[in-house]
Amino acid sequence: MAKKVLKFGGTSVGSIDRIIRVSKLIQDETKKGNKLVVIVSAMSGKTDELLSLSKSISKDFSDRELDVLVTSGEQVTASLLAGALNKLGIKSRSLMSWQIPILTEGKHNNSRIINMSTDKINEYLNNGEIVIIPGFQGISKIGDLTSIGRGGSDATAVAVAKLLNTDSCEIYTDVDGVYSSDPNKIPVAKKIDKISYEEMLELSSLGAKVMQSSAVQTAMMYSIPLHVKSTFTNREGTKIFTEKNIDYSKVVTGVAYSKNDAKITLLGVQDKPGIAAEIFEPLGNARINVDMVIQNVSSDSKTTDLTFTVKREDLEESLNIIKNNKKVHVKELSHRTNLSKVSIVGAGMVTTPGVTYKMFRALADEKINILAISTSEIKISVILEEKDTLKAVKKLHNIFELD
Ligand code: ADP
Ligand code: ASP
Ligand code: MG
Repeated sequence: MAKKVLKFGGTSVGSIDRIIRVSKLIQDETKKGNKLVVIVSAMSGKTDELLSLSKSISKDFSDRELDVLVTSGEQVTASLLAGALNKLGIKSRSLMSWQIPILTEGKHNNSRIINMSTDKINEYLNNGEIVIIPGFQGISKIGDLTSIGRGGSDATAVAVAKLLNTDSCEIYTDVDGVYSSDPNKIPVAKKIDKISYEEMLELSSLGAKVMQSSAVQTAMMYSIPLHVKSTFTNREGTKIFTEKNIDYSKVVTGVAYSKNDAKITLLGVQDKPGIAAEIFEPLGNARINVDMVIQNVSSDSKTTDLTFTVKREDLEESLNIIKNNKKVHVKELSHRTNLSKVSIVGAGMVTTPGVTYKMFRALADEKINILAISTSEIKISVILEEKDTLKAVKKLHNIFELD
């Protein structure tokens, strides 16, 4: 007998038929004698719909009320699934985050789970019940509902697995596992059987939304193995765990992309010590994450040009901060949003020279212009024009032998 966390994403619980299907999958698990805690997302599309409802009331809808609203989708699916299990004759109950409670800290709309009481859950499990918990939802120290960031049901699953010390954490979704690239966009993408936390963390931070990156980070920190698999097929799925269990026959494991970036260019900035700090300090204070930075060599030793990227949602605030920064004089400030970031990720890169060259050559062969570059030990990211995204992903997928 094992104690397991099973998490079902939005598509998996996206209709009554699908919820019934999930209830049967859970029934099979109970027949094996397992104790189950189930985490559910809202029906697919629901969270976006709730967000847009708030915008139709006001674009300054309060953060507190927004969390009450957006976390309601998970309440609906938790109760429907418990009802579907009851109909099969299986004892089950939903427990909202405030009933458990699941405690979070941080800002509304982007909180973080810090603790959870396990007493009630263990009591119900010992009584042979299946406990259904809404993902994405928590409560703050003062008892307000909070949400933990988009895709956050993954993070709920990992946190619950850790705090309940379960034997496994299974993430059921609408694809068979983690692929070498998004299988819905790159049909030749291949399923990966095993992947390290580090690679998965890079892939998900760089756009592979199959796992939420903060969930992977928590799993890595506490060595919680994850198993990503499909609600709709019986294929084996993908295991995410520590690196030593993995054989790297390929240099690159996956290609990810996102359309979340914006580029800011400062032309004619004074070229003197401390100027970069003056520019980036107020951005840091505003909690704006600067990703890639490029500074040109000064041609006249007096001024230089500086380009950097931020998340699109931070663009307006970043521009305002720079315009209002009295310590920095800029001849011209420009920005672009119709960009994408394409990245190759692979632990095999550490020991293989020439990967950067191979990537740049492949993009050049496709006449794709690179606007910015950043690298780490196991990834290379480039900023491109948005229109070139899929062409670049397909080419890189092909030349790194992932097709
Ligand atoms: P869920 O609702 O189950 O959490 P998500 O929509 O958040 O599911 O994530 C699953 C989706 O992630 C897939 O449908 C797929 O289009 C997308 N995806 C992006 N990159 C990858 C990848 N490398 N491997 C698998 N799926 C990916
Ligand atoms: N429903 C939330 C979202 O759409 C959380 C999740 O699905 O994981 O972001
Ligand atoms: Mg998801």
